[in-house]
Formats: sequence, C-alpha cells, structure tokens
Amino acid sequence: MTLSSVPDGADAATVRAMLSCGNPRWARQHPHKAMQVHLECEVGICATKTVAFLTLQQQGRIVPDSGRDR
Ligand SMILES: [Zn+2]
Repeated sequence: MTLSSVPDGADAATVRAMLSCGNPRWARQHPHKAMQVHLECEVGICATKTVAFLTLQQQGRIVPDSGRDR
C-alpha cells in the first residue's frame, strides 16, 4: 500500500479512514480516491474498494471488465 495519494493537510484520522479496508462510508463519498488508495486491494475482499468500485460503476465511470459488451 502506498501513501503517495494522501492529500496535503490530511489529519491522522482522515488518513486512517482512507487506509482502512473497512470504511465503505468514506469510499462512497470519495470513490475515486478510495480506488487509488486501495489499488492493491481486491474487490469483494476489501469493503472500501468494493463500495468505491460499485459507486463508480453506478455513476457510469467504470465499465465492468467482463467483456460482455464487446
Ligand atoms: Zn483495502
């Protein structure tokens, strides 16, 4: 896990929330950030990444990588 995407001025609580794999509420508010921070996590295992992924998908920002539409 990398800390390179932690924003300047973030306090400890914010950073800890970002890095937690069990923080779907934050992920829903900041799905793009969550995807970056949890880049190495797996959807379906990491709750934060799962919620972020689904949120972006619902917003049409992620195309599911199933290949069904090709
Ligand atoms: Zn995670």
